[in-house]
Amino acid sequence: MDYYSSQISKLIDEFSRLPGIGTKSAQRLAFHMINMPKEQVEEMARTMVEARNNVRYCKECWTLTDREVCPICASSERDHKTIMVVETARDLAAYEKTGKYEGVYHVLHGAISPMLGIGPGDIRLKELMERLQGDVDEVIIATNSSLEGETTAMYISKLIKPTGIKVSRIASGVPVGGDLEYIDEVTLLRALEGRTEL
Ligand code: ZN
Repeated sequence: MDYYSSQISKLIDEFSRLPGIGTKSAQRLAFHMINMPKEQVEEMARTMVEARNNVRYCKECWTLTDREVCPICASSERDHKTIMVVETARDLAAYEKTGKYEGVYHVLHGAISPMLGIGPGDIRLKELMERLQGDVDEVIIATNSSLEGETTAMYISKLIKPTGIKVSRIASGVPVGGDLEYIDEVTLLRALEGRTEL
């Protein structure tokens, strides 16, 4: 039954499409928004539309950016011969927060998962291999320590080994199954410094 007017119901529906937002939260957000100053709502809506329209993948590392090449890849102060492979742009952000990593990244946008039917062709692996044709000294595999992350790490290391490029894996210490973005910076740094060659 539609207790609310159809516009409010539609707003609640829209919010409940977002991840982690149930019906109750969606209602709370909808009513909050209706009470917000009009200008603020307009600004919010504009920001959402602009971000959706302008944000794309960096053509080198595949992170999300609003430029053709992201600021990290465009920086001459970064070590472009060291590539850290991560699953998501959020993982990249977690390592950037440490402020200590000077190399560049490669964002896979997922991990290999036979159970979910995600194969090597479904993540940005081909693009990684293409980058390795260039001048690269080391690939640091920083996928999660979940089953999928480990499977992906093994797969990548097997692919890279024949090229003679050094391949390393971040140290465990990152809790099993832990999403990198929730791990504190000290733990991340320790995992990076304690990486082992595969
Ligand atoms: Zn980039």
